[in-house]
Amino acid sequence: MSSRAVLRMVEPGSSAECVVCGAVIRFAARSQQRQVIANVYQEGTWLRVEHYHAECYSRAEEPYGPAAS
Ligand SMILES: [Zn+2]
Repeated sequence: MSSRAVLRMVEPGSSAECVVCGAVIRFAARSQQRQVIANVYQEGTWLRVEHYHAECYSRAEEPYGPAAS
């Protein structure tokens, strides 16, 4: 397995913090907020899940490649 990223809608009650800016990724009913969720693997072993605001993931130059939707 290798690291990969997916683009998902932010769910109500989300409390994940963005790895890039450190702010909580908040659900907002009107804004259709999207987040990037990355499963991080190192040498085939799962390490962690990382959450990003979609904009922050782009700004960080897509560390795990383009997010699949
Ligand atoms: Zn962010």
